[in-house]
Amino acid sequence: MERIVLATGNKGKIREFERAFSHMNITCVPVKEVATVPEPEETGTTFMENAILKAKYYSEKIGLPCLADDSGLTVDALEGEPGVYSARYAGSHGDDEANNQKLIRELQGKANRTAHYVCALALVYPDGSSLTSEASCDGEIQDTPIGTNGFGYDPYFYVPQFGKTMAELDIDTKESISHRGKALQQLVAKVNG
Ligand code: IMP
Repeated sequence: MERIVLATGNKGKIREFERAFSHMNITCVPVKEVATVPEPEETGTTFMENAILKAKYYSEKIGLPCLADDSGLTVDALEGEPGVYSARYAGSHGDDEANNQKLIRELQGKANRTAHYVCALALVYPDGSSLTSEASCDGEIQDTPIGTNGFGYDPYFYVPQFGKTMAELDIDTKESISHRGKALQQLVAKVNG
């Protein structure tokens, strides 16, 4: 795996993948730099279904190995919400601020703040073969945002191990403990194995 197409337009994810792959001497290219292809509908009911659906879709269209990430936040007091709807929790896709506001509203008065980031990765080759991995990262949702790194729910996602929010951690520290960093390590081990 020396050159890989990232099947995502999410700038936060692209930044983290570019950083992680640079540690492995692998060049990754966002799909928009390779081809103009409309985004597929994310109709899966699990992170893994959506990751496979996206990677397969782009790989078939582009004819190159494509890596897709489907990820999100599951909150125990909200019965797993926002889950696969994390990017569009408040209605419009990718509106982080509205999503965060809705999350804090829904958690008002709830004592249990435990939450988990989940990341499913799928690497699909043009011949249809694929490799997958999935990992999670535990934390707690706090009411007040702190930190400017990361993206999405990071300013509200408190990581007990560091006594900081995910948005206070630098990109390499986030990679070492995050759902995405761990899932990527597992996937690369499978590619090399
Ligand atoms: P997807 O693009 O459909 O996989 O949706 C991913 C969404 O989950 C993002 O838009 C964020 O709201 C959330 N998310 C996933 N990973 C992270 C992360 O590392 N930090 C913060 N939010 C994340």
